[in-house]
Parts: sequence; structure tokens; C-alpha cells
Amino acid sequence: MNPKIENRRAFLHQSAALSTAAAATGVFGLPELYANQPALPDDEKLGVALVGLGSLSTNQIAPALQKTKRCKLTAIVSGTPAKQEKWAKQYDLTPEHIYDYETFDKIAEDESVDIVYVVLPNGMHCEYTVRAAKAGKHVFCEKPMAISSVECRQMIDACRKAERLLGIGYRCQFEPHHLKCMELAKSKEFGEIKEIIAGFGFKIGDPKQWRLNKKLAGGGPLMDVGIYALQACRYLTGLEPDLITATETKTDPVKFAEVEETLAWTMKMGDVTCSCNTTYAFNGVNNFHAYCDNGNFGLEPAYGYGGIKGKSSKGPIEFEQVDHFAAELDHFAECITEGTELKVPGEEGLQDLLILEAIFKAAESGLAVKPESM
Ligand code: NAD
Repeated sequence: MNPKIENRRAFLHQSAALSTAAAATGVFGLPELYANQPALPDDEKLGVALVGLGSLSTNQIAPALQKTKRCKLTAIVSGTPAKQEKWAKQYDLTPEHIYDYETFDKIAEDESVDIVYVVLPNGMHCEYTVRAAKAGKHVFCEKPMAISSVECRQMIDACRKAERLLGIGYRCQFEPHHLKCMELAKSKEFGEIKEIIAGFGFKIGDPKQWRLNKKLAGGGPLMDVGIYALQACRYLTGLEPDLITATETKTDPVKFAEVEETLAWTMKMGDVTCSCNTTYAFNGVNNFHAYCDNGNFGLEPAYGYGGIKGKSSKGPIEFEQVDHFAAELDHFAECITEGTELKVPGEEGLQDLLILEAIFKAAESGLAVKPESM
């Protein structure tokens, strides 16, 4: 084993153990975390360019990039001059590191940028990932990876050809409550998982937003937030769905003319039955729960940026909340500089898209569908 990796593992275990007393208040100790690395000096941090300065970039990612230990914000891409000006002031960015969608490809010559982080509407992820890879940059892309498995494959190919890493923004895979649940599942703390119930949805507002536009969003709540429930089923079981059934409910055919409104689906994953749902019609669904041979465990709320709570038949699952975005970005930066294994590569995004496509197919046909394999 590479001594650097061995040392890092030892450090992670040690720092996790040291912080257990302070950070774990439930009945389980902290899981192995990915955000405990020591901070690098500023001039050794990798540079990140944010593409798309909407709600997520403004409220979550840019603030996270002020806390990251291995990367920092060095450039922005926006089509709105007022936003460019505001961000330049707020984050001390000079004009040569500010791009719009036409000048984006010039980022190839910007040595301050190592990673391009794509935070655009889903239907634009493929184009900007391919362009970023051609510019010689590593790419971190928000979920869902793209609007089709065909696009996902193009993105993977482009990054492979450019010999750059491609990571997908599955932030829950870096969150202590989720990581502990993965450990509980893997160690069979409660015996074999028999059934999982998982769902995520919210009541959507503005009927003109891109999330309701098929070309830009690829689909409705399933692509946007149902994907979290799918991810949970996959990382708890470590299995892929054999067969899927799905039912759609539409009460507002005008607002939801292009995308689904509410969708319930089941997945047979080995001997585990998963029942999932997603919606843009009402608030409150935000959970997963695993029922096992000798007990049960789960999270609710499960998928927010904070406030995650867990419970089990042995007692609460409780840890300090962490910044999911800082954790996933530091992990990505570490994989680039240290050559360590990426937890959330493009293939993970492609696998989800293949399953999402099968869920849509099952809803349309009313038949049980087997997802295509990678
Ligand atoms: P948003 O609408 O707030 O921002 C989108 C940005 O894209 C805006 O700055 C907009 O100006 C820009 N844009 C460029 N071309 C556009 C076009 N043709 N149409 C519309 N906007 C255009 O969206 P958001 O909530 O920031 O979501 C962006 C991405 O991040 C999506 O892929 C979404 O799924 C993902 N997301 C992830 C999380 C998470 O927790 N990981 C949370 C929210 C959103």
C-alpha cells in the first residue's frame, strides 16, 4: 500500500476517534469522515471555477469554498454582468478570472483554475463538462449528472480522453449520519436489510422555472430530489435494482405539462424491497428507513443541508452537522493531488441515470422494467 494513503487512513481514524466524544451524541460513534484532513496553505489549494451563479452557488457552494481546506474559489462563469460585479467584489476576483458562457473556453489558459464546478440547470451539465474537460480542467458536476445516460457517457468519455477527474455532487455520501447508516448496513448491526422506505419531495413555486422545463431539467422531482432516495437505497444495500415498477399521479396538468408531478416507485434489489416516492406537489417527505431482521434505522429529515436526524431501534443516531459541500470538494481535491480513489465518479452518476430512465419507462408503460446495465 502507498505509505501516503496508509498515513492518511491512520490520520482519519485517529481524528475521527479524537472528535467522537465531542461530535457524537447518539448511541453510535462517528463514522469515518472525509472532511478531517489538515488545511493546506492557501497557495497550495486547488482553484475552483464556479459555472452558474444561481441559488446553490450563492447560498451553499461559495460559502463552503471559504471553509475548504484543499481548494478555494478562483474564478466564476456567469452571463449576468451585475452578478459578475457583485461576486468579484465579494470574493476578491480580478477581471481575468471572470468569464461568461461565450468566453468560457478561455479558461484553458487560466492557471488559477484546476477544477470547474458545473452548477447549471441539468440540461446544460453535459455541454459544460465536455467543454471544461477539453480545456484541460478536472470537473465536478452537480446532480443529476445529466438528463440522459447518453449524455453521461459523453461526459465520462470526454474526461477520460482529457485524463481529468470527473466527480458528481452527491453530498450525502460525505455526511456523518448517512455514512453511519452505510456502516450500520454493511456491518449488519441490525441483521439483513429486508425493506427500505425512502422519499424526498417539496412543493414547487414559480411555474416558469427551469425545473419544470423538460429540456433544461430532464424530468421533474425524480431527477431533482427523488435521486436522493434512489442513492440511499443503493448505498445502504450496496445492490442495484433488478426490477422496477412505478406510478405517476398528476393533479395539475398545466403546471406539470412537461414533467412528472408525483411519482411512487418500487425496486427489487436482491432480497430487499424498496418503496420510494418523490413529488413537487407537497412538502414534508424527506426520509429513509431500513427495516432489518433484528431492528431498524433511518434518517428524518434526511437530505437537507443541515438538521439531519437519525433514529434506530437501539437509540438515536446523532452527530454534529458538517458542511456537505466543503466535505465533498475537499475529498475531490484530495483525489486530484494524492491520487486517492474518488467516491463519486461519473460512473456513479451514469448508474443513477440508467435507473431513473427505467423508472420513467416503468411509469409510462405500467410494466416492471429491468434497468439497462452500464
Ligand atoms: P438556479 O436556477 O438557482 O441557478 C441556475 C443558474 O444557471 C442561474 O445562475 C442561471 O442564471 C444559470 N443559467 C445559465 N443558463 C441558463 C438557462 N438557459 N436557463 C436557466 N438558468 C440558466 O438553480 P440551482 O438550484 O442553483 O441548481 C443548479 C444545479 O444544482 C442543478 O443541476 C441542481 O440539480 C443542482 N442542485 C444541487 C443541490 C444539492 O444539494 N447538491 C441543491 C440544489 C441544486
